[in-house]
Amino acid sequence: MLTVNAYAAPSATEPLVATTIERRDVGAKDVLIEIAYAGICHSDIHTVRGEWGPQQYPLTVGHEIVGVVTEVGADVTLHKVGDRVGVGCMVNSCRECVNCLSGNENYCLKGNTGTYTAVDRDGTITQGGYSTHIVVVEDFVLRIPEAIPFDKVAPLLCAGITTYSPLKHWNAGPGKRVAVVGMGGLGHMAVKIAHALGAEVTVLSQTLSKKDDGLKLGADHYFATSERATFTDLANHFDLIINTVSANININHYLKLLRLNGTLVSVGAPPEPLPIQVFTLFGNRRTFAGSSIGGIRETQEMLDFCAEHGIAPETELIAADQINEAYERVLKSDVRYRFVIDVETMK
Ligand code: NAP
Ligand code: ZN
Ligand code: ZN
Repeated sequence: MLTVNAYAAPSATEPLVATTIERRDVGAKDVLIEIAYAGICHSDIHTVRGEWGPQQYPLTVGHEIVGVVTEVGADVTLHKVGDRVGVGCMVNSCRECVNCLSGNENYCLKGNTGTYTAVDRDGTITQGGYSTHIVVVEDFVLRIPEAIPFDKVAPLLCAGITTYSPLKHWNAGPGKRVAVVGMGGLGHMAVKIAHALGAEVTVLSQTLSKKDDGLKLGADHYFATSERATFTDLANHFDLIINTVSANININHYLKLLRLNGTLVSVGAPPEPLPIQVFTLFGNRRTFAGSSIGGIRETQEMLDFCAEHGIAPETELIAADQINEAYERVLKSDVRYRFVIDVETMK
């Protein structure tokens, strides 16, 4: 066992504190990663605060992880010491079910093993990336292209793949009108990726305060959802809407913005149910859908796509002792557009 520095929540209501956690010994198929940077996802906040259900504490979160391989097990073939690598939201899956066999480990029928709060193969609870090292089985470790700055790339491991996967699945591209609701961590990546795929991109944000940024990131249009006219002007307009909002919104108002056969995909994960008026779905034969991260193959494809298109997340680098302050800023939508922890400050 390896004892490593980390930040952990002692309970659902207390701030995160510096501590140590245990990592398992490096097994034959495992890779030991010295973590360099870890992104802060809103899911980390939902989880540590118990909003998605009770948790076991102390709890270390973080599933946007990049670092350097410092040791490999005897049977590892995919990575070697010194490689730049990444780990996202899952660290294993059953590998046998129909979904795993088709590269959709994120939809493993037995449930993928989450990077934190999941029961690992050895019965321990997995602990996430706000720490100096992690041990992960090689198939769930991604290659990080050199072309993307190392201190900015971490958010691709969750925010990047969570938006890339539905944009690809629902064919965002030339001739398609795509709306992104909420321009935070996921939203700003959705804008960049949808633009790179060739779609006409519209941001629907609470206010126009981030309009200049949105247009720079690749949006063609930018509207405030606090303006009633937005919902009449854009009625029956979009082929695809990606909803990244972490809170409950009136989803029926947004469904009405879909044109014939349009789809609204919710990737935002508010704890409460979203009530849907079915008559809104009847109009224009609309679809309401959800999407969860992406498979390992698709995550590698997304990283390579971002490298090819010069896409990197917009980030604010913080020291480990600023995590709690960063959480408060995320909750106020005061994030431009992802906080990344410099893990060197934990060592
Ligand atoms: P984030 O950075 O906080 O962004 C969320 C954005 O939603 C905010 O920037 C804000 O955008 C908008 N928003 C927040 N509160 C709102 C409200 N009350 N009404 C309307 N809009 C509001 O969070 P994130 O890290 O991108 O994560 C977003 C959500 O996705 C979270 O619920 C997270 O758990 C979930 N998630 C899901 C998956 C998945 O696999 N499906 C993966 C990762 C994250 P504006 O300021 O532009 O309005
Ligand atoms: Zn996440
Ligand atoms: Zn499976």
